[in-house]
Amino acid sequence: MGPPGAGKGTQARFVADHFGVPAISTGDIFRANVSQGTPLGVEAKRYMDAGEYVPDEVTNRMVRDRIDEPDAEPGFLLDGYPRTLDQVGELDGMIKHTGHALDAAVVLTVDPEELVQRLLQRAQTDGRADDTEDVIRRRQEVYTEQTAPLIEVYRERGILVEVDGMGEVDEVTTRIFDALDVIPES
Ligand code: AMP
Repeated sequence: MGPPGAGKGTQARFVADHFGVPAISTGDIFRANVSQGTPLGVEAKRYMDAGEYVPDEVTNRMVRDRIDEPDAEPGFLLDGYPRTLDQVGELDGMIKHTGHALDAAVVLTVDPEELVQRLLQRAQTDGRADDTEDVIRRRQEVYTEQTAPLIEVYRERGILVEVDGMGEVDEVTTRIFDALDVIPES
């Protein structure tokens, strides 16, 4: 978890490789569907371009299908999911059904000024449709309203791992590994 620009996507790939599990990024799956012009992509694009969340029902169904794939059987890392309280409940149900348990919920903390700089930089390098200034602002608001409260949910469950997301990419990766390597896998 972490606000847009915190480095979730970048770090998710390193962490997934480290543990030998797939990184499942809801944002990447939506973007792949958008570029392929699938019905899911057409629906998701309306929300993504506005900086809003895709409806829970659509997102939950997509994640359920993805974690049922054989490569996720030994475990998986979720990037950008859950993002709402409804998704937290759905994920609990999905995990029960697969026999897994959540080992950790990692949150990357980055100061707000740095976030805007990173996203403006990404706008230039990746050309993402939702990295315009208005949409960036809306995505930060939606995160604060709908996703930031999940931090307390996972803190209460005792699985929250807070990591300083400031600094170089490899410094942050090392911090995440140091924090996760001491956690027993379920
Ligand atoms: P991301 O790549 O994680 O920043 O996600 C890009 C966009 O995809 C978000 O701004 C949302 O519109 C949509 N999205 C990704 N994950 C979710 C989710 N868990 N719930 C709802 N919408 C999502």
